[in-house]
Amino acid sequence: MEVIACLSYFLSMKSKVLLIGIDGLVLDIALNSNMASTLGQWKERGFFAPTVVEAPTWSGPGWSTILTGSTHAQHGVTDNRFSGHNLLYRPDFLSRAFYQDQSTTTFAAAAWPPLVDPSGLGPVIHERREQQLAYQHRVIARDGETHGYKSADAEVAHAALYAIEKAGPDVSFVYFCGADEAGHVHGIRGNNYIEAISRIDEFLAKIETKVQARVESLNEEWLIVVTTDHGHIDEGGHGGDTDQERDSFVIATGFGRENPKWPTSIKPEEIAELILAERA
Ligand SMILES: [Zn+2]
Repeated sequence: MEVIACLSYFLSMKSKVLLIGIDGLVLDIALNSNMASTLGQWKERGFFAPTVVEAPTWSGPGWSTILTGSTHAQHGVTDNRFSGHNLLYRPDFLSRAFYQDQSTTTFAAAAWPPLVDPSGLGPVIHERREQQLAYQHRVIARDGETHGYKSADAEVAHAALYAIEKAGPDVSFVYFCGADEAGHVHGIRGNNYIEAISRIDEFLAKIETKVQARVESLNEEWLIVVTTDHGHIDEGGHGGDTDQERDSFVIATGFGRENPKWPTSIKPEEIAELILAERA
């Protein structure tokens, strides 16, 4: 009996999926800097596809598209004020994974409040308080806009590492904004932008170590997906429709499993659906 129960557990085991959002990341600069070795390795051995985000290239509409699998017209977020949005009718991919299978555990950590904090604008990630009470959904909200992203991203990373090690959520979203912040303040052609990218890459390395430990000790399968919501102009800033601002990418790397066989032409609003299919 126990053997059958154990067997059915393994047969029904689905890949865990972690989406890492790196705000305002110009991938070429990151990879050419040689200061983002983890991201480079994930791209090298994972699935890779370039994508083009819809303009205007603000973070609000950008992340709303990626996280809910909707176009700007569908989610109604046109800028970072979130006024008149349809997000109540466009559930994020964590919520959709839960609705798809109600044994699913989900986790989100971010320091840009509109993504996760129910007390302010948005949030794009639904609160789902009942699942939080049942320990099936965890949301870590920090405020990088007030405290700066250097420390806020570090707290997000710390919370994510703890969650991966202790709970291993089925579907997660972890977000870093330090590179975008540095881009705005210093532009993207100097050392500040690269230093911020390198700090985030160190978080990725630590996340990989925690994921790999679960893969080896628990035989779990993990898929780590990385994307960004927009690039930057050289002087720093975005919102327009230049190629450099609209340029994005999808990297999806399997741990304890194969890379996904996704189409090499992906629109940002298709990422959520592709992730949900990995949980089907
Ligand atoms: Zn952004």
